[in-house]
Amino acid sequence: MYINDVNLSPLVVAEPGESYQSQTNLNRWIEVLVDCPGSTGLFTYRSPAQLEIKPGDILSVPFGAQQVGAIAIRFLAQPNIDLPLEKIREVEDIVSVGFFPSAYWELLNRVAAYYYTPLIQVIRVALPPGLLGRSQRRIRLVRGEGEQKNNSKFQNTLTPPLVSSLVTPTARQILELLQAQPAGDYSFAYIQQKIKSAYRGIRELVRFGLVQSYLEPPRLTRPKLQKAIILIDATDSDLTTRQREIVEVLRRRGGELWQSELLQICNASSSILKTLVQKGYIVIEEREVLRTEQGPALAGDRAKSLTAAQANALAIIQSIDGFAEVLLHGVTGSGKTEVYLQAIAPLLNQGKSALVLVPEIGLTPQLTDRFRARFGMAVASTGGTRARRSLYKVSVYHSALSDGERYDTWRQMLTGEPQVVIGTRSAVFAPLPNLGLIILDEEHDSSFKQDSPIPTYHARTVAQWRAELENCPLVLGSATPSLESWVSVRRQEEQGGRGLRQEPPTRDGGAEGQGSRGAGEQGKQNSLYYLSLPERIYSRPLPPIEIVDMRLELQQGNRSIFSRALQEALEQLQERQQQGILFIHRRGHSTFVSCRSCGYVLECPHCDVSLSYHHTEEGAPQLLRCHYCNYTRSHPKFCPDCSSPYLKFFGSGTQRVAQELARQFPQLRLIRFDSDTTRNKGAHRTLLTQFANGEADLLVGTQMLTKGLDLPQVTLVGVVAADGLLHLSDYRASERAFQTLTQVAGRAGRGEDPGRVIVQTYTPEHQVIEAVRSHDYQSFSQVELEQRQALNYPPYGRLILLRLSSLDPIQVQNAAQIIATALSAEDGFEILGPAPASILRVANRYRWQILIKFAPDALPQLPDWEEVRDLCPPSVSLTIDVDPLNIM
Ligand code: ADP
Ligand code: ZN
Ligand code: ZN
Repeated sequence: MYINDVNLSPLVVAEPGESYQSQTNLNRWIEVLVDCPGSTGLFTYRSPAQLEIKPGDILSVPFGAQQVGAIAIRFLAQPNIDLPLEKIREVEDIVSVGFFPSAYWELLNRVAAYYYTPLIQVIRVALPPGLLGRSQRRIRLVRGEGEQKNNSKFQNTLTPPLVSSLVTPTARQILELLQAQPAGDYSFAYIQQKIKSAYRGIRELVRFGLVQSYLEPPRLTRPKLQKAIILIDATDSDLTTRQREIVEVLRRRGGELWQSELLQICNASSSILKTLVQKGYIVIEEREVLRTEQGPALAGDRAKSLTAAQANALAIIQSIDGFAEVLLHGVTGSGKTEVYLQAIAPLLNQGKSALVLVPEIGLTPQLTDRFRARFGMAVASTGGTRARRSLYKVSVYHSALSDGERYDTWRQMLTGEPQVVIGTRSAVFAPLPNLGLIILDEEHDSSFKQDSPIPTYHARTVAQWRAELENCPLVLGSATPSLESWVSVRRQEEQGGRGLRQEPPTRDGGAEGQGSRGAGEQGKQNSLYYLSLPERIYSRPLPPIEIVDMRLELQQGNRSIFSRALQEALEQLQERQQQGILFIHRRGHSTFVSCRSCGYVLECPHCDVSLSYHHTEEGAPQLLRCHYCNYTRSHPKFCPDCSSPYLKFFGSGTQRVAQELARQFPQLRLIRFDSDTTRNKGAHRTLLTQFANGEADLLVGTQMLTKGLDLPQVTLVGVVAADGLLHLSDYRASERAFQTLTQVAGRAGRGEDPGRVIVQTYTPEHQVIEAVRSHDYQSFSQVELEQRQALNYPPYGRLILLRLSSLDPIQVQNAAQIIATALSAEDGFEILGPAPASILRVANRYRWQILIKFAPDALPQLPDWEEVRDLCPPSVSLTIDVDPLNIM
């Protein structure tokens, strides 16, 4: 690949004063990745003698008419012979040096190769937004020495006639443009807009020393600086009372404070500080304020004395030297998090860092608080808090942070100080040097997988690679391990015989006495360990799970969405001053609206789905909303088809359940916890804190409340309708339903009061329901794995999903057909489809897909992805999803 011909003049091969001999050919040409939408290949540039570029550096390069960010990949001895030397442009500057340590670089390359994604797109996921590409090239006049801000003076240093005789008309035009502006400073892009072929003119002016070209760092992500006051002398012999007061405040606060804070406390103005500086009592320093997310102040927390099972798990994790994978299978409330905390503590003292990955931000505030309470505060670098500095940083890193916060947290990691980073999926790329441990909590959770855009990576897979490359252990924790992880454990058991003898936790026996086994007995095979925490802390029982058959309820005359058992339990909540959680599969009010007279269903005009009814409270607007494209309209009074006024709501979402609760149990105080109510920043934390403080009796929400909440006062968990989870058309539906229901049930009875779970369903005989009721992970996974194996679905045969979409229904179908035909000529896999996606049209795009199923235990690899992609016309978008989780 070579540089597109752009409107550029040939470059001068040697600059004045720069000799040919001084440069070896070796590092003269460099291939770079350019950060520009649509650009994916490598481009060749000339590496100027004055820059010492190394692979992995972030650069700024000219690209077409722009200056863009780029990453140095490798040096070339010779540029491609197809590429005329005079077309090769020169690297402008180095933005940041030595960004990617080799293991990290290797990781990014693996992700790119495995997920069929151009490397630059993987790099974009790994870097905080805006780091690449927002550095701005600017041009400014060089002014004579001792010169004031006066443009006419500049012209005196080099008189116009002289300038005219020396430079080309283009250069002169640029000079005039700059001189006309008081600051004499414009962005390169602006000058290029104003003047044709500006690039050449600027080079000329730079050579004459008339202008300077410089890089301005990204605006958005510029570090934030603030003035700090530091006390250097407190012997107050010559101070006024007022000045002494200030020195005293500083002294009491540990000798350092932000200027703004100090002035506020002392109610003083900055002039008094100047005097103190002159007298040599204080210094004022520009310090960086890190915009990392701040947690509330927390009381410290000490390590708990471990149960035998916890101690055993910890001993094994700590015995690992180098890379190994650990599956920590612990029932809900068994103290997995305590094991993580104690595994991390000694690492920090050794100067290493730890990465903790969690499924969703909803979960992070509580978890982050536990880590902060144990290891230290988020260091806010506020002045005067020296004592805190010896503690470790615990920062969060996820996509809901502002760009500035992300940038700062990210840079904070690069300092190399021992620290803990807690984050969601993309934090698997957190650039922590000296990584000592990676933990992936709730490893079964599907939010670790990215569906779109590419790379469609799974954080668990990437974490495995990363741990291997960094040579550190990876701990996967779950109460309901993914079948992928479970099968790996079982395989090793079959192959090795020795070790891995721990049974998975089941409620009735089978796992007793495991905690007492010595570390040596649980063997190590191919660096995979299986560790089990089969009991809850203090041997608290797992909550009993009652299954309520909603068909019987109806037969016996109960038309409410709450069964009699659940109604009773809700009534008791307040009497007993306990709290409950109600799980609903969907947000909104109703899943669809239909006409009772003619059966018409209100649908989204852009998607093949029905509209959900949204209504939060009396007097609020009644809306219909599409959960796929967010199309919203008001709820009609009459059927759009037959004008009947009898429109009926079907399917209950969180809003309807909340309304129904308010009607039937007006005394119950409730908090709705779903993506509608947690949209604002910090909302998760606020709502959970309110609930934890007892400001509500009931938390009503979706998926996000099933994950990791540890609230000891919760005794009741109700699942309003399990059926929404059971009857999904994808091969993972059962696994997901089992995991979700087990997790949500696991929120009950974590404290001293015993818990109770009520699951309402129309299909109580379903295998998943039975397995959830008996807390029986093992028989569930056995039946499920047999079915997967029979059909060669993962974790046996691996999958690749090709997703095609287009505004044109015919073209997309044709393209799918052509690609499927081409692929079917290849060996090593089976083609399913092409088939329309289960919702054919979303946001006006028609969607087709091709599922490629590989032989058992083969890696999901296509022989020629580039060729496949070339078969797709531009009007059709084609994306590849390796190891897809959602196939609908
Ligand atoms: P999990 O992560 O397995 O769901 P947690 O780590 O949240 O379990 O532990 C459940 C509760 O038990 C938490 O409140 C935790 O503080 C407490 N806990 C964990 N380990 C111990 C221990 N060894 N002694 C006393 N309490 C513990
Ligand atoms: Zn109608
Ligand atoms: Zn829609």
